[in-house]
Amino acid sequence: MEKVTVRFAPSPTGPLHIGGARSALFNYLEARHTGGRFIVRIEDTDLERSKREFEDEIIQSLKWLGLDWDEGIVVGGENGPYRQTERLEIYQQYVRKLLEEDQAYYCFCTEEELEKEREQQMAADGLVRYSGKCSHLSREEVQKRIAAGEKPAVRLRVPPGKQLEVHDYVRGDVRFDTDTMGDFIIVKNDGIPVYNFAVVLDDVLMGVTLVMRAEEHLSNTPRQLLIYQALGFPTPAFAHVSLILGSDHQKMSKRHGATSVMAYREMGYLPEAVFNFLALLGWSPEGEQEIMTQEEIIAQFDVNRVSKSPAVFDLNKLNYINQQHIKRLSLEEFKRRMRPYLENSEFSEDIKTLSEEKYSVLAQALKDRLVCLADVKDQARVFLRRQEPEKEAQELLAIPENQAMLKTFAEEFSAFDFQEAAEIKSFIKKFIKNHQLNAKNVYMPLRSALTGVTHGPDLPWLILFWDKQETLDRIWTALE
Ligand code: GLU
Repeated sequence: MEKVTVRFAPSPTGPLHIGGARSALFNYLEARHTGGRFIVRIEDTDLERSKREFEDEIIQSLKWLGLDWDEGIVVGGENGPYRQTERLEIYQQYVRKLLEEDQAYYCFCTEEELEKEREQQMAADGLVRYSGKCSHLSREEVQKRIAAGEKPAVRLRVPPGKQLEVHDYVRGDVRFDTDTMGDFIIVKNDGIPVYNFAVVLDDVLMGVTLVMRAEEHLSNTPRQLLIYQALGFPTPAFAHVSLILGSDHQKMSKRHGATSVMAYREMGYLPEAVFNFLALLGWSPEGEQEIMTQEEIIAQFDVNRVSKSPAVFDLNKLNYINQQHIKRLSLEEFKRRMRPYLENSEFSEDIKTLSEEKYSVLAQALKDRLVCLADVKDQARVFLRRQEPEKEAQELLAIPENQAMLKTFAEEFSAFDFQEAAEIKSFIKKFIKNHQLNAKNVYMPLRSALTGVTHGPDLPWLILFWDKQETLDRIWTALE
């Protein structure tokens, strides 16, 4: 059987968004699952809006997500170049062929003329399509006008009354009618081919067998089918993946939160979590298990299980998935990933001078508490700074029984030596038992004295982090 070849073809007109990343991911998964080929190429024919910075950012985002590709931009390959603006010569050859075969023709209509035509059609039957005004110009006339300096566009002749049909993995058999289409432009009058034309040639010349992309491109598909037919190329399979909606079921936009992949990186989402989350936006595994590694997702991905209904971007779900992936990290890996988020915070100096041992304690204390790595900026505060007791803590510290308990605790604690959090935990337990106290009546005042607040990371970790002297110092200071 023919090897699957899929591609991701972003336009570098902005950062990589969640929707684009999902398209890239599904293509990647299809290629890796089937042992096929994944191509990444750049659709930069929108000269005004395309920027190299965006291209770089898109590539960086794909790499961050853990995607790699077998052919295309950066990695090269035998079907390059992989930027459309560097392929203009290639497109030209095929335009010439279509013109020679009279499957396409030059169109000299100006923007104003076309606008007028549109207005008239709107007023008449509301069906807007090119009238075909230039479709009958003689060769001589065309040559004369070009020689006189006019810059024509090129239009494809669209056969009227034709039914186009494709199979779409997501949408089933889709039919289109050519009657309402009108001859459409394939090369603009600045010589730059339009997306529909360039994309078909790229897909054909790069051997793409499955075009998987966002649903919004479904409406481009009939034009692309006509181009395949005019050029005499077989059509690939298609899969138009449904939209991503925000929590209010409107099309996902900035209103719903960050839309660029890099923003999620900055917020401290793990790439493997974003990978996992995006995979579930429109695809579902057969089993119940949703927290999956990259390998597990690749093993199970099936384009036939991509859903037709729109996916909803649920931030709570992403948070949950992220938390689960943080928990799965080894301590060493977690320490490595957490570090930059601390280094870029108000604690950067503290982190530089912190011993490896202390940093490990901090990491162990926080690993199961973080939703995002960037949360470490808030969670680390209690370890690294002292703070005046809050109201609730003050109230607890003002109670005479609590003060007496803390004094006794401090005295006994000063004679206690420890190396591990577990030892501290059992010390506190024993203290509670020996003095026949209620656990809550020990933990709450102790935490208030040590941290100034009534909730936070486990006390044994905090105490281990500060060590004996600092712990005692905090208790005595609170008692004063
Ligand atoms: N450049 C298009 C986009 O960014 C992709 C078109 C396609 O995949 O055919 O949406």
